[in-house]
Amino acid sequence: MSTDSITTVLIIGGGMGGLALAQLLLQSSSSVKVLVFERDETEKSRDQGYCIGIDSTGLDTLDKIRVLDQLLSDESNGYSSITGFRMCNRYLQTLFEFKAPNPDRFKLIYREDLRNALLTNIDVQWNKRFTSYKILDDGIEAYFDDGTSVSGTILIGCDGARSLVRAQLIPDFQRNDLRIINSAGTIEPYDDMKKIHQISKDSGVRIFGKQGHSMLVLPFRQSWIWGLSWPEQGDHEETNVSTAQLVDKIRQHFNNDELVRLAERTSPSSYLAPFRMYSALCLKQNPFPNNPHVTLLGDAAHPMTTQAGKGANTAFADALDLADALLNPSSSSLSDYEQKMFKRGFEAVKASLGMTNMIHLTGWKGLLRDCILSIISYMMPLINVISMPLRLFKKKHD
Ligand SMILES: Cc1cc2nc3c(=O)[nH]c(=O)nc-3n(C[C@H](O)[C@H](O)[C@H](O)COP(=O)(O)OP(=O)(O)OC[C@H]3O[C@@H](n4cnc5c(N)ncnc54)[C@H](O)[C@@H]3O)c2cc1C
Repeated sequence: MSTDSITTVLIIGGGMGGLALAQLLLQSSSSVKVLVFERDETEKSRDQGYCIGIDSTGLDTLDKIRVLDQLLSDESNGYSSITGFRMCNRYLQTLFEFKAPNPDRFKLIYREDLRNALLTNIDVQWNKRFTSYKILDDGIEAYFDDGTSVSGTILIGCDGARSLVRAQLIPDFQRNDLRIINSAGTIEPYDDMKKIHQISKDSGVRIFGKQGHSMLVLPFRQSWIWGLSWPEQGDHEETNVSTAQLVDKIRQHFNNDELVRLAERTSPSSYLAPFRMYSALCLKQNPFPNNPHVTLLGDAAHPMTTQAGKGANTAFADALDLADALLNPSSSSLSDYEQKMFKRGFEAVKASLGMTNMIHLTGWKGLLRDCILSIISYMMPLINVISMPLRLFKKKHD
């Protein structure tokens, strides 16, 4: 990468990570030219989904992006905070609960608000579907499906879990189909769902049903966002399951009137179409080839399941490190970035996969999970008392 002239950064994909990177570069340097290419036809052509949980990893980046200042400080409308999580059985009895370690550093943000704020001042080139790239002597050329091309100094693949940049850069990279289907909906709370009100007050709730079925309820602003996921039984259930069948699934696998009503009363327009879960393999060796003209970020580099809420947070952390490497180039900065991004990304892949497997356990393994969670929950006060002298000692010597 040249250190004495204008660097042109080609960002493929105007999603969470690509836009965060563009903002960090643009606000920090006038010697970097940033071009963002997005396959969506327009800013509004795709529903962005509901809210996104941003933890301290993500906030460490977002706090540095100036155009987000207002969104991140506007508690009334911009975001909601939840202070803890609980895991429940299908009777909505709590098996285990924990407080978020740092509730001030966990926010639920409406996805569209975050994307809109991240788009501020960025001149995204819409309707530009990347197809391939060619490395040149002094840079790189990107090609699009409309027959056009553009050249730059470096190309960053921020094109999500099915990245075409990754497919060319690391052709043997594998993504596993976990055969788990995920769907979701959003609904205004009803008074006759007292138990859900009670367990979801300021808390995210995970509910374990029968045969590996799992539900999530998140209180967000004036609504509840709920999700249902399950191990696939037939083929391509994501395209074959209707909203009525989702309600039936909840009836059959949770046998709980409040949860059934939650799904039954969700308006069809606020259902998120079911989708399959994929994950990268849990790689132990860095697969990124340290090419000076092309690298990856976010889901393009380390696609993971959604259930630990780490995908966007990891993409934001990547964006911060990559911006730093691009703004302060040295012979090792890109390889350092790739090593750090690999370590963080694949730790998140592993944690996410572990969470996905745990919440979809079936048969005796599911029962054992519920027992272990209950035992830990009963033991917690005792563990706290026993470990108090140790914590006091540590506090005194910190
Ligand atoms: C239901 C759900 C809930 C989630 N909840 C959370 C959460 O609470 N917390 C969290 O941290 N993560 C969460 N995630 C994961 C998170 O959304 C992703 O990890 C994150 O969006 C990844 O950011 P990214 O920039 O890498 O990819 P994306 O945000 O997917 O952006 C990729 C962009 O590239 C574009 N693109 C793709 N191919 C091309 C091409 N060929 N040419 C040009 N453009 C292209 C796409 O249109 C898209 O705009 C959730 C995901 C889902 C599905």
